[in-house]
Amino acid sequence: MELKLEHISKSYGKNKALSDFSMTFTPGIYALLGPNGSGKSTLMNIITDNLKADAGDIFFDGENVKKMGVRFREKIGFMPQYPGLYPNFTAREFLFYMATLKDIPKKQMKDVVEEVLSAVELSDVARQKISSFSGGMKQRLALAQATLGDPEIIILDEPTAGLDPKQRISVRNYISSIALKKIVIIATHVVSDIEFIAKDAIILKKGVVIDDASPAVLTKKMEHKVWSLHCRDSEVPFYESRYRVTSISKAENDFVNLRVLSETKPTEVAEILSPTLEDYYLSVFGKLGI
Ligand code: ADP
Ligand code: MG
Repeated sequence: MELKLEHISKSYGKNKALSDFSMTFTPGIYALLGPNGSGKSTLMNIITDNLKADAGDIFFDGENVKKMGVRFREKIGFMPQYPGLYPNFTAREFLFYMATLKDIPKKQMKDVVEEVLSAVELSDVARQKISSFSGGMKQRLALAQATLGDPEIIILDEPTAGLDPKQRISVRNYISSIALKKIVIIATHVVSDIEFIAKDAIILKKGVVIDDASPAVLTKKMEHKVWSLHCRDSEVPFYESRYRVTSISKAENDFVNLRVLSETKPTEVAEILSPTLEDYYLSVFGKLGI
């Protein structure tokens, strides 16, 4: 299975949201990583045919998806960034409704719905109205509907937004458990969401792909560039003015430990650290995505 995007571009007025995006996706988890405004949602809405590109083509196994129409859309499970859920439905009713839209055979429907409810840990509240749900519960319900019917391509736009750390981990585990033999594309600005599950991270900055490699390869680019530095509180502004300081943690008395990105050793007492994907992200974008 292959999903091929060729020279996709999209502008809103003079604002180029996506510039000449080309990529070939095969089964596995891909991350679309970049801060707000980098064009992630624009790309996902184009792939799922919710938005028309200005230019470019998409092919599924060699066939133009424009020609395939419904046949292509049926292969996709999509969790939009701002999912429209029906507040007056219960979670179970909503999933039955979505399963009907997806033409899941009546006989299988109950099993399929119960399975996804359980996978996202919503079985206990399946009879409650969506209007009573917290943000995290709505987010998990939106994820559940994207996976209904075992689609070959799953597109998730910021799937962990609004989740607490424990729910993030469970959503991450769920995504990797269903990803086998599927093309899964996850848009996020949260590095830890994809660091250990994505085979490939596509780094988007202002609509342009600036890097594309496995998290391990991207992380390796930061080797010999991440340092730990022990200094006084009062010295922090000095280091911040010279280096990219990516974290500050309290140490004893009025001392702190800094994590510093630098091509060269920042001071005699600095110690080298193993890099993480977050170091890479911070070196590219300056700050964690908001
Ligand atoms: P991301 O999902 O990475 O935050 P988006 O795809 O939402 O990025 O946005 C990319 C760029 O396109 C941003 O500059 C954003 O302001 C702009 N944009 C997105 N949607 C619209 C729209 N409907 N109308 C005008 N500009 C838009
Ligand atoms: Mg977005």
